[in-house]
Amino acid sequence: MSEAVSVPAALVPGQTIGILGGGQLGRMLAIAAARLGLRVHTFDPDPGCPAADVSKRLTVARFDDAAAVERFADSVDVITFEWESVPTEALRALADAPPIRPPAEAVCVLQDRLSEKRFLDGLGLRVAPFEPLDDPAQLEHALERIGLPAIVKTRHAGYDGKGQVRITCLDDLEPARALVAQQPCVLEGFVRFEREASVIAARSTDGAWTTYEPGENVHRDGILHTTRVPARLTGAQREQAVDIAERILTGLDYVGVLGVELFVTPADLLVNEVAPRVHNSGHWTEAGCQVDQFEQHIRAVAGWPLGPTTRHSDVTMENLIGDEVERWRQHLVNPTASLRLYGKSSVRPGRKMGHVNRVEGRRAS
Ligand code: AMP
Repeated sequence: MSEAVSVPAALVPGQTIGILGGGQLGRMLAIAAARLGLRVHTFDPDPGCPAADVSKRLTVARFDDAAAVERFADSVDVITFEWESVPTEALRALADAPPIRPPAEAVCVLQDRLSEKRFLDGLGLRVAPFEPLDDPAQLEHALERIGLPAIVKTRHAGYDGKGQVRITCLDDLEPARALVAQQPCVLEGFVRFEREASVIAARSTDGAWTTYEPGENVHRDGILHTTRVPARLTGAQREQAVDIAERILTGLDYVGVLGVELFVTPADLLVNEVAPRVHNSGHWTEAGCQVDQFEQHIRAVAGWPLGPTTRHSDVTMENLIGDEVERWRQHLVNPTASLRLYGKSSVRPGRKMGHVNRVEGRRAS
């Protein structure tokens, strides 16, 4: 006799998804939700956040305002995030909360680089060699074990290469010590990768899962610059990328979309980090797939079936960072390009202002 599996109730059109964080990812999630007849209530401290333009409701409050989070939770049918540094403690404390997808426990594991690496290690996945750093005095001993070059990364709230110090020579020790003195960090061995790739994966409330084809990523100054599909990977590497994603999804009992960043070496794939949310390196799916990562996440958190992920086109996604956005008109007149602008009012160096997907050929069906 097969065991009965209880599947949580699904939303119906007209119900409301609460999204914590109203940046560009929240904006694109809200647009995807609207296409499916679902409403979005966004929670963000900034009244001018990118998702404000496209959300049915907006709560403007700090993420650590527990009363505001509680009121927000009362007004929505499911809670999700566009950003991993959400206050998971406040969410877990909610009485009579709507479902939180992905689960707060999964986000907790991935919010902290140290617990993330231990979790991945525990699944038998390869990561760069690492050592915890709670005190600057531990740095030299950790360096003896890891070797040079190495990178100090903050355990919490680092993204786009922020909160990192590379150590290539003894001169770099001082800034590294200063970072560890501010907050707990990890020391990571430098991986001599051939290329970087990522895989976007999704899991639904009934445990079904799927992945998009891995993309090949190029970073500049620690920030994603382009993602290209198809990635230059062997068949075996592609299979390994899918297997890695599946193990992470099931290991976390995950619901929603996540992004797995990979270092590709001749011998293996190493996991750099896992983002429990839609991911910048998955923006190509808007132009390359029937159902993109944003709709996929909305489907998953609404308790709906996942959509097809087959790639129908070769695509290059390019981020428009800082004043690169000034060239928006050029992208508009390129017949192979589709432009997304995030509606941010001020341009700053390193700020993601938009992206462009260029279709570089359709695959024969
Ligand atoms: P992260 O914020 O950890 O994703 O790092 C941003 C980028 O820095 C990565 O995409 C890599 O290009 C580079 N990077 C980070 N960690 C390492 C590492 N351990 N070895 C080599 N490059 C790294």
